[in-house]
Amino acid sequence: MTVDIVTIFPAMVQAPLAAGIVGRAIERGTLDVKVRDLRDFTTDRHRVVDDVPYGGGPGMVLKPDPFFRALDAIETDRVGPLTVILTSPQGKRFTQVDAQRLSGQPHLVLLCGRYEGFDDRIRQRVTDEISIGDYVLSGGELAALVVVDAVARLVPGVVGDEQSVAEDSFSRGLLDFPQFTRPPEIACRGGAGNAGSATASAERVLKVPDVLLSGNHAEIRRWRKRQAVARTLERRPDLLDGAVLDEEEKQILRELQDGRSAELQKGQARNHGRD
Ligand code: SAM
Repeated sequence: MTVDIVTIFPAMVQAPLAAGIVGRAIERGTLDVKVRDLRDFTTDRHRVVDDVPYGGGPGMVLKPDPFFRALDAIETDRVGPLTVILTSPQGKRFTQVDAQRLSGQPHLVLLCGRYEGFDDRIRQRVTDEISIGDYVLSGGELAALVVVDAVARLVPGVVGDEQSVAEDSFSRGLLDFPQFTRPPEIACRGGAGNAGSATASAERVLKVPDVLLSGNHAEIRRWRKRQAVARTLERRPDLLDGAVLDEEEKQILRELQDGRSAELQKGQARNHGRD
Protein backbone atom coordinates (compact mmCIF):
# COMPACT_ATOMS: atom_id res chain seq x y z
CA MET A 1 0.00 0.00 0.00
CA THR A 2 1.13 3.54 -0.76
CA VAL A 3 0.29 6.39 1.62
CA ASP A 4 0.93 10.11 1.20
CA ILE A 5 0.53 12.48 4.14
CA VAL A 6 0.33 16.19 3.33
CA THR A 7 1.14 18.44 6.28
CA ILE A 8 2.84 21.69 7.25
CA PHE A 9 4.62 19.77 10.07
CA PRO A 10 6.37 16.78 8.39
CA ALA A 11 8.55 16.16 11.47
CA MET A 12 5.45 15.61 13.56
CA VAL A 13 4.52 12.50 11.56
CA GLN A 14 7.95 11.25 10.44
CA ALA A 15 9.18 10.18 13.89
CA PRO A 16 6.11 8.14 14.92
CA LEU A 17 6.03 6.47 11.49
CA ALA A 18 9.57 5.21 11.99
CA ALA A 19 8.67 3.22 15.15
CA GLY A 20 7.05 -0.16 15.80
CA ILE A 21 4.99 -2.24 13.39
CA VAL A 22 4.47 0.57 10.87
CA GLY A 23 8.18 1.47 10.92
CA ARG A 24 9.14 -2.16 10.22
CA ALA A 25 6.57 -2.44 7.41
CA ILE A 26 8.03 0.70 5.81
CA GLU A 27 11.56 -0.70 6.15
CA ARG A 28 10.50 -4.00 4.53
CA GLY A 29 8.67 -2.16 1.72
CA THR A 30 5.22 -3.56 2.61
CA LEU A 31 4.15 0.04 3.11
CA ASP A 32 5.41 3.01 1.12
CA VAL A 33 4.71 6.18 3.10
CA LYS A 34 5.70 9.62 1.81
CA VAL A 35 5.36 12.70 3.97
CA ARG A 36 4.86 15.80 1.83
CA ASP A 37 5.45 19.30 3.10
CA LEU A 38 2.51 21.45 2.02
CA ARG A 39 4.87 24.44 1.77
CA ASP A 40 6.70 22.70 -1.11
CA PHE A 41 3.52 23.24 -3.14
CA THR A 42 3.36 27.00 -2.69
CA THR A 43 4.59 29.37 -5.41
CA ASP A 44 5.47 32.50 -3.41
CA ARG A 45 8.77 33.41 -1.82
CA HIS A 46 7.40 33.11 1.72
CA ARG A 47 5.78 29.70 1.12
CA VAL A 48 2.47 30.90 2.52
CA VAL A 49 -0.17 28.18 3.07
CA ASP A 50 -2.86 30.15 4.93
CA ASP A 51 -4.86 33.36 4.68
CA VAL A 52 -7.54 35.28 6.57
CA PRO A 53 -11.12 33.99 6.29
CA TYR A 54 -13.48 35.71 3.85
CA GLY A 55 -16.27 37.30 5.84
CA GLY A 56 -13.97 37.97 8.78
CA GLY A 57 -13.59 36.16 12.07
CA PRO A 58 -10.71 34.78 14.10
CA GLY A 59 -7.84 32.62 12.91
CA MET A 60 -6.44 31.63 9.55
CA VAL A 61 -7.68 29.22 6.88
CA LEU A 62 -5.55 26.82 4.79
CA LYS A 63 -5.52 27.93 1.16
CA PRO A 64 -6.86 25.48 -1.46
CA ASP A 65 -4.19 25.96 -4.17
CA PRO A 66 -1.20 24.34 -2.36
CA PHE A 67 -3.37 21.28 -1.64
CA PHE A 68 -4.52 21.12 -5.27
CA ARG A 69 -0.90 21.27 -6.45
CA ALA A 70 0.10 18.60 -3.92
CA LEU A 71 -2.73 16.33 -5.13
CA ASP A 72 -1.72 16.94 -8.78
CA ALA A 73 1.85 15.86 -7.93
CA ILE A 74 0.65 12.77 -6.06
CA GLU A 75 -1.69 11.91 -8.99
CA THR A 76 1.34 11.65 -11.28
CA ASP A 77 2.99 9.01 -9.03
CA ARG A 78 -0.22 7.23 -8.10
CA VAL A 79 -0.38 3.43 -7.92
CA GLY A 80 -4.09 2.91 -8.65
CA PRO A 81 -7.08 5.03 -7.69
CA LEU A 82 -6.42 7.64 -5.01
CA THR A 83 -8.45 7.65 -1.82
CA VAL A 84 -8.12 11.23 -0.58
CA ILE A 85 -8.91 11.58 3.12
CA LEU A 86 -9.59 14.94 4.72
CA THR A 87 -8.92 14.84 8.47
CA SER A 88 -11.71 16.84 10.07
CA PRO A 89 -13.76 16.92 13.28
CA GLN A 90 -16.77 17.31 10.96
CA GLY A 91 -16.10 14.01 9.18
CA LYS A 92 -17.55 10.53 9.67
CA ARG A 93 -16.33 9.01 12.92
CA PHE A 94 -13.55 6.51 12.10
CA THR A 95 -14.21 2.86 13.03
CA GLN A 96 -12.60 -0.52 12.47
CA VAL A 97 -14.99 -1.08 9.55
CA ASP A 98 -13.52 2.02 7.86
CA ALA A 99 -10.00 0.77 8.63
CA GLN A 100 -10.85 -2.57 6.99
CA ARG A 101 -12.31 -0.87 3.90
CA LEU A 102 -9.32 1.49 3.54
CA SER A 103 -6.83 -1.37 3.99
CA GLY A 104 -8.05 -2.72 0.62
CA GLN A 105 -7.24 0.52 -1.21
CA PRO A 106 -3.95 0.77 -3.10
CA HIS A 107 -3.14 4.42 -2.42
CA LEU A 108 -4.30 6.65 0.45
CA VAL A 109 -3.66 10.38 0.71
CA LEU A 110 -4.23 12.08 4.06
CA LEU A 111 -4.61 15.85 4.22
CA CYS A 112 -3.76 17.43 7.57
CA GLY A 113 -5.53 20.63 8.50
CA ARG A 114 -4.36 23.37 10.88
CA TYR A 115 -5.66 26.70 12.22
CA GLU A 116 -9.41 27.12 11.48
CA GLY A 117 -9.23 24.28 8.98
CA PHE A 118 -9.34 24.12 5.19
CA ASP A 119 -10.87 26.36 2.54
CA ASP A 120 -14.09 24.41 1.91
CA ARG A 121 -13.37 24.02 -1.82
CA ILE A 122 -10.73 21.42 -0.92
CA ARG A 123 -13.65 19.03 -0.33
CA GLN A 124 -14.12 18.83 -4.11
CA ARG A 125 -10.97 16.67 -4.35
CA VAL A 126 -11.74 14.50 -1.31
CA THR A 127 -13.23 10.99 -1.25
CA ASP A 128 -13.54 10.55 2.55
CA GLU A 129 -13.80 13.03 5.39
CA ILE A 130 -12.73 11.36 8.63
CA SER A 131 -12.96 12.40 12.26
CA ILE A 132 -11.15 10.34 14.89
CA GLY A 133 -13.57 11.42 17.62
CA ASP A 134 -15.83 14.14 18.93
CA TYR A 135 -13.14 16.55 20.08
CA VAL A 136 -11.02 19.17 18.32
CA LEU A 137 -7.29 18.68 17.80
CA SER A 138 -4.95 21.51 16.83
CA GLY A 139 -4.05 19.74 13.62
CA GLY A 140 -4.74 16.72 11.44
CA GLU A 141 -1.32 15.09 11.97
CA LEU A 142 -2.35 12.98 14.98
CA ALA A 143 -5.58 12.00 13.22
CA ALA A 144 -3.62 10.97 10.10
CA LEU A 145 -1.27 8.85 12.23
CA VAL A 146 -4.23 7.14 13.93
CA VAL A 147 -5.78 6.29 10.56
CA VAL A 148 -2.48 5.06 9.05
CA ASP A 149 -1.73 2.89 12.08
CA ALA A 150 -5.20 1.30 12.24
CA VAL A 151 -5.28 0.69 8.46
CA ALA A 152 -1.69 -0.57 8.19
CA ARG A 153 -2.28 -3.33 10.79
CA LEU A 154 -4.88 -4.78 8.41
CA VAL A 155 -2.66 -4.78 5.32
CA PRO A 156 -1.46 -8.37 4.78
CA GLY A 157 2.16 -8.80 5.88
CA VAL A 158 2.29 -5.77 8.18
CA VAL A 159 1.52 -7.55 11.48
CA GLY A 160 3.53 -10.76 11.76
CA ASP A 161 0.77 -12.91 13.30
CA GLU A 162 -2.43 -12.32 11.34
CA GLN A 163 -4.38 -14.38 13.90
CA SER A 164 -3.73 -11.65 16.47
CA VAL A 165 -5.30 -9.05 14.15
CA ALA A 166 -8.29 -11.32 13.54
CA GLU A 167 -8.84 -11.54 17.32
CA ASP A 168 -8.41 -7.83 18.03
CA SER A 169 -11.29 -5.88 19.53
CA PHE A 170 -13.93 -4.85 16.94
CA SER A 171 -12.68 -7.22 14.24
CA ARG A 172 -15.89 -9.29 14.45
CA GLY A 173 -17.88 -6.86 16.58
CA LEU A 174 -16.54 -8.27 19.88
CA LEU A 175 -14.07 -6.75 22.31
CA ASP A 176 -10.92 -8.81 22.85
CA PHE A 177 -10.71 -11.24 25.80
CA PRO A 178 -8.48 -10.29 28.78
CA GLN A 179 -4.82 -11.21 28.44
CA PHE A 180 -2.33 -12.26 31.13
CA THR A 181 1.37 -13.04 31.15
CA ARG A 182 3.97 -14.05 33.76
CA PRO A 183 4.21 -13.97 36.73
CA PRO A 184 1.21 -16.17 37.68
CA GLU A 185 0.73 -14.23 40.94
CA ILE A 186 1.58 -10.64 41.83
CA ALA A 187 1.09 -8.52 44.94
CA CYS A 188 -0.84 -5.29 44.46
CA ARG A 189 -1.60 -2.41 46.77
CA GLY A 190 -4.29 0.21 46.12
CA GLY A 191 -5.61 0.80 42.64
CA ALA A 192 -9.10 1.06 41.17
CA GLY A 193 -10.11 -2.45 42.34
CA ASN A 194 -9.59 -1.35 45.95
CA ALA A 195 -10.75 2.25 45.65
CA GLY A 196 -12.99 3.43 48.43
CA SER A 197 -12.60 0.26 50.48
CA ALA A 198 -11.60 0.42 54.13
CA THR A 199 -8.60 -1.73 53.24
CA ALA A 200 -7.49 0.48 50.33
CA SER A 201 -3.84 0.19 51.32
CA ALA A 202 -3.96 -3.58 52.09
CA GLU A 203 -1.92 -5.80 49.83
CA ARG A 204 -3.81 -8.28 47.63
CA VAL A 205 -2.49 -11.13 45.55
CA LEU A 206 -3.67 -10.97 41.95
CA LYS A 207 -3.72 -14.38 40.26
CA VAL A 208 -3.92 -15.39 36.64
CA PRO A 209 -7.19 -17.35 36.09
CA ASP A 210 -6.51 -21.07 36.71
CA VAL A 211 -7.90 -22.11 33.33
CA LEU A 212 -5.07 -20.26 31.52
CA LEU A 213 -2.48 -22.29 33.46
CA SER A 214 -4.33 -25.59 32.93
CA GLY A 215 -2.86 -26.43 29.52
CA ASN A 216 -6.38 -27.49 28.45
CA HIS A 217 -6.65 -25.70 25.11
CA ALA A 218 -10.33 -26.47 24.53
CA GLU A 219 -11.19 -24.98 27.95
CA ILE A 220 -8.96 -21.96 27.32
CA ARG A 221 -10.59 -21.31 23.95
CA ARG A 222 -14.09 -21.52 25.52
CA TRP A 223 -13.09 -19.30 28.47
CA ARG A 224 -11.72 -16.68 26.10
CA LYS A 225 -14.88 -16.70 24.00
CA ARG A 226 -16.99 -16.31 27.13
CA GLN A 227 -14.83 -13.43 28.36
CA ALA A 228 -14.97 -11.65 24.98
CA VAL A 229 -18.76 -11.95 24.83
CA ALA A 230 -19.18 -10.98 28.52
CA ARG A 231 -16.90 -7.92 28.18
CA THR A 232 -18.72 -6.76 25.07
CA LEU A 233 -22.11 -7.24 26.76
CA GLU A 234 -20.93 -5.31 29.81
CA ARG A 235 -18.94 -2.51 28.16
CA ARG A 236 -20.21 -2.12 24.60
CA PRO A 237 -23.59 -3.86 24.19
CA ASP A 238 -24.18 -1.64 21.13
CA LEU A 239 -21.55 -3.67 19.23
CA LEU A 240 -23.47 -6.94 19.64
CA ASP A 241 -26.17 -5.92 17.14
CA GLY A 242 -23.67 -6.04 14.27
CA ALA A 243 -21.38 -8.76 15.70
CA VAL A 244 -20.58 -11.85 13.65
CA LEU A 245 -20.86 -14.62 16.29
CA ASP A 246 -20.40 -18.36 15.83
CA GLU A 247 -22.90 -20.82 17.35
CA GLU A 248 -20.87 -21.23 20.53
CA GLU A 249 -20.66 -17.46 21.06
CA LYS A 250 -24.39 -17.07 20.39
CA GLN A 251 -25.07 -19.73 23.05
CA ILE A 252 -22.74 -17.96 25.52
CA LEU A 253 -24.53 -14.66 24.83
CA ARG A 254 -27.94 -16.27 25.47
CA GLU A 255 -26.66 -17.74 28.76
CA LEU A 256 -25.25 -14.39 29.88
CA GLN A 257 -28.41 -12.52 28.89
CA ASP A 258 -30.60 -15.11 30.69
CA GLY A 259 -28.35 -14.79 33.76
CA ARG A 260 -28.70 -11.01 33.62
CA SER A 261 -32.47 -11.02 33.32
CA ALA A 262 -32.71 -13.59 36.16
CA GLU A 263 -30.56 -11.24 38.31
CA LEU A 264 -32.74 -8.29 37.30
CA GLN A 265 -35.92 -10.18 38.17
CA LYS A 266 -34.47 -11.19 41.58
CA GLY A 267 -33.58 -7.54 42.24
CA GLN A 268 -37.06 -6.38 41.27
CA ALA A 269 -38.65 -9.05 43.51
CA ARG A 270 -36.43 -7.93 46.42
CA ASN A 271 -37.40 -4.27 45.87
CA HIS A 272 -41.07 -5.25 45.63
CA GLY A 273 -40.77 -7.12 48.97
CA ARG A 274 -39.47 -3.93 50.58
CA ASP A 275 -42.35 -1.74 49.26
N1 SAM B 1 -12.56 25.00 12.94
C1 SAM B 1 -12.57 23.59 12.70
C2 SAM B 1 -13.92 22.99 13.08
O1 SAM B 1 -14.46 23.39 14.11
O2 SAM B 1 -14.39 22.08 12.38
C3 SAM B 1 -11.49 22.87 13.50
C4 SAM B 1 -10.13 23.08 12.98
S1 SAM B 1 -8.92 22.17 13.88
C5 SAM B 1 -8.37 23.34 15.06
C6 SAM B 1 -7.56 22.06 12.77
C7 SAM B 1 -7.46 20.76 12.05
O3 SAM B 1 -7.25 19.69 12.97
C8 SAM B 1 -8.65 20.30 11.24
O4 SAM B 1 -8.70 20.96 9.99
C9 SAM B 1 -8.39 18.82 11.08
O5 SAM B 1 -7.45 18.57 10.06
C10 SAM B 1 -7.74 18.48 12.42
N2 SAM B 1 -8.68 17.91 13.39
C11 SAM B 1 -9.12 18.48 14.51
N3 SAM B 1 -9.93 17.67 15.19
C12 SAM B 1 -10.00 16.52 14.50
C13 SAM B 1 -10.69 15.30 14.69
N4 SAM B 1 -11.47 15.09 15.73
N5 SAM B 1 -10.52 14.32 13.78
C14 SAM B 1 -9.74 14.52 12.70
N6 SAM B 1 -9.06 15.67 12.46
C15 SAM B 1 -9.19 16.66 13.34
